[in-house]
Amino acid sequence: MGFLTGKRALITGVASDRSIASGIAQAMHREGAQLAFTYQGEKLLSRVQACAEKTNSAGIFECDVASDDSIAALAAGVKKIWPEGFDVLVHSIGFAPREQLQGSYLDAVTREGSQIAHDISSYSFPAMTKALRDQLRDGGALITMTYLGAVRAVPMYNVMGPAKASLEANVRFMAAELGSRNIRVNGISAGPIKTLAAAGIKGFRGMLSSAESASPLQRNVTPDEVGNAAAFLCSDLASGITGEILYVDAGYSIQGMAGIGD
Ligand code: NAD
Repeated sequence: MGFLTGKRALITGVASDRSIASGIAQAMHREGAQLAFTYQGEKLLSRVQACAEKTNSAGIFECDVASDDSIAALAAGVKKIWPEGFDVLVHSIGFAPREQLQGSYLDAVTREGSQIAHDISSYSFPAMTKALRDQLRDGGALITMTYLGAVRAVPMYNVMGPAKASLEANVRFMAAELGSRNIRVNGISAGPIKTLAAAGIKGFRGMLSSAESASPLQRNVTPDEVGNAAAFLCSDLASGITGEILYVDAGYSIQGMAGIGD
């Protein structure tokens, strides 16, 4: 019996089989959770359907987090398939306009770019939680995906750094508020992984090779490794953990300096 047996998990953010959300879906399915998925728009439906079929999903819902109506429609749809409520929300959504993710931060950043990055990558987490919170059951868990750029300056990550810092603050504020209902909120700070979203960051290949050579484990992490950590954090095995950011980055973030020989 898997450690998520009896749990119902709503998973956002599948865009391809390389998506971090796909790794999370595989791990949660393997551990016995019943899954439902969201997709951003028609273009991504077939990708999400493929993942949903592999995991015997209970439902698929369109949801563009830029729209309050779309989030409200999702909440209504989830209530129909799971009238007694559900247990896990996986928030694996991030976006900034491509021109924000290249060159110098101060040259690239604009009011509009900053608003979009914060809206889609950070505010969407509390926005979805507000709409779905009445359906979350006792012992529930929410998880989101963040990156080291929240706490360190990383070239080209630019406005996504402040947006992820805001997302991590959301983890703490929501954990503080939902704890009295025995609902936990955590984040995973993943090392770089080649996905569609990551391809939008200029010089992403350099990020991958730098992380590989400077990590204690001397390699990059995989969506499956992030998925396993997410499954654990959303299970009762992690019942004492809330408001945390767990690094799944082959140890990269602990290094003060790397690559100095004898
Ligand atoms: P991905 O491209 O596979 O997934 C990003 C998802 O965000 C897509 O499914 C996309 O549809 C969704 N999305 C974007 N705008 C949306 C909107 N308006 N409404 C609904 N959904 C929307 O890429 P990924 O790397 O798996 O990204 C998932 C999360 O992981 C993101 O928050 C990303 O910042 C974070 N992350 C990624 C890495 C990495 O190196 N890939 C590292 C750390 C954190």
